[in-house]
Amino acid sequence: MWYADVILPLPLAGFFTYQIPEEYLKVAKPGVRAIVQAGKKKKYTALIYRIHQNKPEGYEVKSILALPDHKAIVNKFQLKLWDWISDYYMCTPGDVYRAAMPAGFKSEKRAFKPKTECYVRLNLHLKDEKKLNELLDNLSRAPRQYKLIMQYLESAGFPEKLYPAWTGLKELLSKTGTSHAVYKSLVKKGILETRQHEVSRLDVYNTEIEKPLSLNEKQIKALNTVKESFEAKDVVLLHGITSSGKTEIYIHLISEELAKGKQVLYLLPEIAITTQIIMRLRRVFGDKVGIYHSKFSGHERVEIWKNLNRQSTGMREPYQIILGVRSSLFLPFDSLGLVIVDEEHENTYKQFDPAPRYHARDTAIMLARLHNAKVLLGSATPSLESYYNCLTGKYGQVELSSRYLDLQPPEIKIVSLHEAYRRKQMKSHFSVQLLEAIEKSLQQHEQVILFQNRRGFSLYLECGACGWVPRCKHCDVSLTYHKKERKMVCHYCGYKAETVTVCGSCGSTHMQMKGFGTEKIEDEIALFFPGVRTARLDIDAIRSRKTLENIIAGFERGEIDMLVGTQMISKGLDFDNVGLVGILNADNMLNYPDFRAYERSFQLMLQVSGRAGRKNKRGAVIIQAYDSDRELYSLVIQNDYRAFARSQLSERKSFSYPPYARLIEITMKSKEREILDQAAEVLATTLKKQTDSRIMGPEYPLISRIRNYHLKRILLKTDKEKSIACVKETIRRSLDELRLKDEYKKVMISVDVDPA
Ligand SMILES: [Zn+2]
Ligand SMILES: [Zn+2]
Repeated sequence: MWYADVILPLPLAGFFTYQIPEEYLKVAKPGVRAIVQAGKKKKYTALIYRIHQNKPEGYEVKSILALPDHKAIVNKFQLKLWDWISDYYMCTPGDVYRAAMPAGFKSEKRAFKPKTECYVRLNLHLKDEKKLNELLDNLSRAPRQYKLIMQYLESAGFPEKLYPAWTGLKELLSKTGTSHAVYKSLVKKGILETRQHEVSRLDVYNTEIEKPLSLNEKQIKALNTVKESFEAKDVVLLHGITSSGKTEIYIHLISEELAKGKQVLYLLPEIAITTQIIMRLRRVFGDKVGIYHSKFSGHERVEIWKNLNRQSTGMREPYQIILGVRSSLFLPFDSLGLVIVDEEHENTYKQFDPAPRYHARDTAIMLARLHNAKVLLGSATPSLESYYNCLTGKYGQVELSSRYLDLQPPEIKIVSLHEAYRRKQMKSHFSVQLLEAIEKSLQQHEQVILFQNRRGFSLYLECGACGWVPRCKHCDVSLTYHKKERKMVCHYCGYKAETVTVCGSCGSTHMQMKGFGTEKIEDEIALFFPGVRTARLDIDAIRSRKTLENIIAGFERGEIDMLVGTQMISKGLDFDNVGLVGILNADNMLNYPDFRAYERSFQLMLQVSGRAGRKNKRGAVIIQAYDSDRELYSLVIQNDYRAFARSQLSERKSFSYPPYARLIEITMKSKEREILDQAAEVLATTLKKQTDSRIMGPEYPLISRIRNYHLKRILLKTDKEKSIACVKETIRRSLDELRLKDEYKKVMISVDVDPA
């Protein structure tokens, strides 16, 4: 008797064993889906992980109900990667399964349906030349039918080809401008036959293929150094300043991999950038490039998966290059040669919630290792982790320090907000210097980008007399004022309340609007510069892929004068007519209680600044900041990454933070605060006793209550030299013990390895 250990799409630890019925023995193998029953009634689409002959003891084994696949849809590389993720990031195989596969594969309700279209063919008894000529003579009295048949013969290449081919009806009708009725009568007469063909939902581009752009001397040197480094190292960091032409180097490396018959994965941190890069890649690689991200429909994602798995729908060639965000790591690659992780420092590569809380850069390195492939990390402002790995010789490093086409780096100026307020040189959130610079750029028909590091709107009300701020009923956060609805909204749970005009604490009627977000900035620009065409690029503005593409394309075409945005505008977008970049309040990036706050701020300021500049002209950057004397700002002005890294690394070392230590963060939540406090104390005490790690907490996080759940955090710091595997084992054991105790059953616990 044979058994299958399957992964259920549930956050349950371990595998579940089912018996394989006789008739499925041939098909059942790892990577094939299995419909199984779990619990009393529920059916699930599980995935077979392994098959064996060991009968499980102690319970009655159920049988697999059905196998929907003929061949494995998950390959051995993927299963190995899943193992690594669930082990390293301390989650269940079910968590990984759920994250990895498109919905259409996992659920019966949303099962994948192939798209079909009507195809037609000349009835085979007419393929004889004499009969065909007779037919055409007859049809000359029905000109529209004649036209359609002639178009069919041209498209099908008949009679040059021996056999009349199946041809798409839609195209025939549109080419001839004839109606469905014309086609119907040809079918009725038995001249055409018809059938449904499976077609692809994925766009076909058929773009003219261009040669890659030729590289300048510095790029050639960098390309050769990358290739040399790959001989000794598996991972190489390409540290190239903005506009140094990294993409062209990637393109040359990709060409070489394709020539060897290998696949390439090109990872980007943000959907927003994929639209720009894909055009560049398509010009060189045409339809060999596929895109994969969450804005695609479930059906489209299943098609890309099937395409890579050589179960292509609609006669499309398998993609050789996949451009995508972090989830594309999970696609069924079978011969990867190169993984490019562009903008490798971006924290959007890290998945926060739900599990698996994986980091795409680190997972990409593991994926490449499984395929014996190389990894190229690219950044103008590398993460300290990657830079450190270069210093220790673990990674190779290649620098590219001048701009492509000899563009000059932008001129960066800091404006002191303290000074400006004291001298009454502020108009709302704008210093006089910034307003003048905007005016000048607009006059010269150059575009402007304004950066405001606040997601969404970020306006809130505050009592002018006592400082009271309206807060959410269910969460420990202040409510955000939404202008359009005139309501106060909680960004964590969605709770809405009417705007208050009276202070809830002292009764004063001096409620004031505080803070400012991108929407407010856009409004103010309209006041200061009437008629200027602005657009916003933030999470609210890019709910749909189309809106996002329209904004970027509109800015590229010069139909938008000014772009107001959050982090999103820093992530590798390239525009060629930006005269000025303004950062409205640089300090608020630094005020996060996070050991990465300095690193993030430095990266953000340089990335945003990098958007300024045009051919033959130096771009300008104005940074408004309260603490304008900070050393950090002078490092930004000098674009001195090395000095920045040196000072930050020494600080990280003295306080035992990554890359010198590993962090694991345990978050516990419960509706009952006392139980939470007890459980957290029990866990922290156990961990203190049983590990060498430094335990910080338990502490309430900055926002200590969300959706009526109280939160508590424990942070474990483990020196790099010590075994992190042992620490994880201890955590697993301690959590299991804790969960056994009845009183803590309702405390929810999540573990985040390498929190970002
Ligand atoms: Zn008050
Ligand atoms: Zn709330």
